[in-house]
Amino acid sequence: MTEETPITTAQRLQPQLVDHFMHLIGTQRLSHAYLFNGMDGTGRQDLALTIALRLFCQNVTSAGFPCGQCAECRRIIAGDHPDVIRVVPDGQRIKVDQVRYLKAEFSKSAVEGNQKIFIVDQIERMTTGAANSLLKFIEEPVGNTVALLLTANKNLILPTILSRTQIVDLLPVAPKELAAALAEVGAAPSQQNLLATLTESVAAAQDLLAEDWLKNAQKSIEHWFTACCQGDERAFVRVQTDLLPLAINRDRQGILLDMIVQIWHDALRQQTGAVDPQTLTYPQVAQASQQIAQRLGVDRLVVVVTLTLATRGQLAGNLNFQAILEALTLQILAQIPRR
Ligand SMILES: [Zn+2]
Repeated sequence: MTEETPITTAQRLQPQLVDHFMHLIGTQRLSHAYLFNGMDGTGRQDLALTIALRLFCQNVTSAGFPCGQCAECRRIIAGDHPDVIRVVPDGQRIKVDQVRYLKAEFSKSAVEGNQKIFIVDQIERMTTGAANSLLKFIEEPVGNTVALLLTANKNLILPTILSRTQIVDLLPVAPKELAAALAEVGAAPSQQNLLATLTESVAAAQDLLAEDWLKNAQKSIEHWFTACCQGDERAFVRVQTDLLPLAINRDRQGILLDMIVQIWHDALRQQTGAVDPQTLTYPQVAQASQQIAQRLGVDRLVVVVTLTLATRGQLAGNLNFQAILEALTLQILAQIPRR
């Protein structure tokens, strides 16, 4: 197998978008500002680089792709082309001097030809002030300039940027590749399916894994769930003793509710037939969820899952987290048949 280049990676992960952008460039219809929205592992940087390569390549293939081998392509891949400006945040934020560098570059025309391209990754990590100061350059580009802004989560992007760029949603990452990326940031195999349903980026997953928050949340929810399944009224007490201490802010409260939806969803999946436990979000309690699935039957299980799904709306409606969960617990207990 030949070695992977940004071009082959982008073709593998985002085949339609690669074709689309190669065609846009071939017919001179590329716009000057895009926002690529795709979590880590979707190849957003590779797609951006492939576009840069196509713009500068001296030996475009007959199919309309950059060659990846000419002098221009090699300089871009090596990060050594004066008209391909790339910024990746240094730590949690895009630093002030990186923004200064970008602004200086935005105001200069191309060094060598008349084409210049900016690739700014994790634009969501730019401070509001910095992002706003870049807006006028996006609006009034100097010469033949293309700005590719990249993000793992467009929900975190300022509306002013969203409204001035063309938003391109990348294909989501394949589950296998996501699992590999999550393993790299320290997620245990038993946490990977759950994390994939809870977060939009590996960075966000890393955040949940910090200080064992996710591990503790998983354990607490598993205990609460097991108590619910047994019709044990101590499930009600566990809301206050186990779950409340983890609900440290609104964001985490929402995640706990999503986690509760998932654990009941596992049971619902097992209701409809044999399921590989490795595909469940809570493989540790696969047996308990299979048993409760059989005891409840599909109708009552659907009632329970619907109750769990309603909690997110209750939280958004500003109901108190503890009150939401206590009410949910009582409603679930009422569905559990007495032995
Ligand atoms: Zn080339």
